[in-house]
Parts: sequence; structure tokens; C-alpha cells
Amino acid sequence: MKDLYYKNSGSFSLPKLFLFAISSVILSSIIAFIYALIARYNPFVYLQFIATLGLAVIPGMVNCQLLLIAKVRNKAISVSYGLIVGFITLYFSWSFWVYVILNYKYSLDIILLSPIGMLETIKEINIIGVKSISNFKLNGLLLWAIWLIESIIIVGGIAYYSIADQIVRVFCENCKIWCQVAKTFELENKVELKNLERVLEAKNFSYLKSFFPKSPKSSCWLRLYIRKCPSCTNTNTLTVSQISVKADSEGNPTEVDKELINHLLISTQDIEQVENIYQESIKQA
Ligand SMILES: [Zn+2]
Repeated sequence: MKDLYYKNSGSFSLPKLFLFAISSVILSSIIAFIYALIARYNPFVYLQFIATLGLAVIPGMVNCQLLLIAKVRNKAISVSYGLIVGFITLYFSWSFWVYVILNYKYSLDIILLSPIGMLETIKEINIIGVKSISNFKLNGLLLWAIWLIESIIIVGGIAYYSIADQIVRVFCENCKIWCQVAKTFELENKVELKNLERVLEAKNFSYLKSFFPKSPKSSCWLRLYIRKCPSCTNTNTLTVSQISVKADSEGNPTEVDKELINHLLISTQDIEQVENIYQESIKQA
């Protein structure tokens, strides 16, 4: 039976991946060094928090772009790539921090090449304690807990951002290129959604005739994303999300995206049909 949904082929190029991994590690080590300097000299708690997020987000987003350029269509490889770069970045950030906090007394390569020595030094620093932002001395279990949370943010963040963009992408195996979002349609319906998945899987797009274009005052509607290969007509997908507007913690309206259908394979005729139904609904609105 033909697949209804797009699936990654699992392919990737090992030499390219290896080359990009070296670039990722070099970039991450530079950011880790800046992070260590901020952790040592910065007096502002917010800047420290932003620096931790930066150490997670920047290498993660760069990894993601490199994995797209390397045409990696394998989630396990992408996650492993993100985790490996994440742990190496964490190791560099600890090494640089120890180097800086010991007032550059020991050579950086000695610290980098002595993980056990570094761990012993970190244990001693934990017993002595470090001064927090408000001159409060942090040590012992509380300090270990803070370090653990920072480490999870860094490694988890890098791994997450490495694949965040890739999981919404579709690759055309015929042309060896990534597809692009060609069209989006926003529709709403007063009645409750029933069997949307089953109906669209059966390519019964006339079901959408009961919908009408989203009005500016809508608080709940469907957003349809059509992805197409820029070079051929063979790879097209439809993703449907339910968007609802809810108030965030500060009371500001914010869009919440709930994915209902992800990467349903469709033909160019199906795209035309959806587009015609949408145009017709605009005329009738
Ligand atoms: Zn193509």
C-alpha cells in the first residue's frame, strides 16, 4: 500500500556530516568561551540567564542549518548529532570556566585534556563556593543543582534546536532538495470538526466547502500548509493545524498551534482543488 504520509528516507552523507560536525564544534567552543567569561565577570543575573540560553540556542540553530545543507533525512542521526555537539559544548564551557576562574594559572590544554583533574577542581570549587550575583555565596547541593539545570538547558537546548526546523521539513528524493511552503490557507468552521483526518486521507477535499475564510475576529481556525518541491511536481504535502488564540501569562493574546495532520502526501490536482475551494469561499464570504 502506498504511504499516505511523507516519511524521511533516512539518508545522509557521512563525509559531509563529519565536516559539518567539526565546524559545529569550533563554533560552539567559541561561544562556550564567551559564556565562561560572562559566567566569571558578569554582575547581572539576567545576562547570565540569557548567556545560558544563547549557548543552547545559537549552536543548536547553526547545527540545524548545517544538517539541512548536508541533506540529512534521518531523525536519529540529527538527534545524535545535536546531543554529541551538546555534550562537547558543555565540556568546553566547563573547561573554559575552570581556566578563567583559576585566573588563567593553568594552561588551557592541560585543563581540556584532564577530565578527571577538572572534575576534582570543580568539586573543590563547589565546597569553597562561588559568589552569586547578590554576593550570596552558593555552594554544596544547591550549587550542584544549579549546575545540573544549566547543563540540561545547554545539552537539551542544542539537541532540540538541532532538529526543531528539520522535523517540519519535507525532502524531494527525486530532485534531492528540500520542499518549501508554497501556500497557506486559513479557514474556519462553525461546526465541530469530525473525522477531518479520515476525510482528508481519502482526498475528499470537498469537505472543506463547508468552511469559510478566517475572519479577523476568529479565536479558533484551521491553517493549511502546502509544501511543494520547487523543481518537480512529484512531492507535495498538506499539513493542517488548529490555531486558537489564548491569553498568555501577561494576558496578551497568543496563538496556540495544534497539529491535526502532518505531511499528508497530495497531488498537484489536490492542491488545485483546495485552492479553488478556498477562492470560492472568499467569493461567497
Ligand atoms: Zn522534486
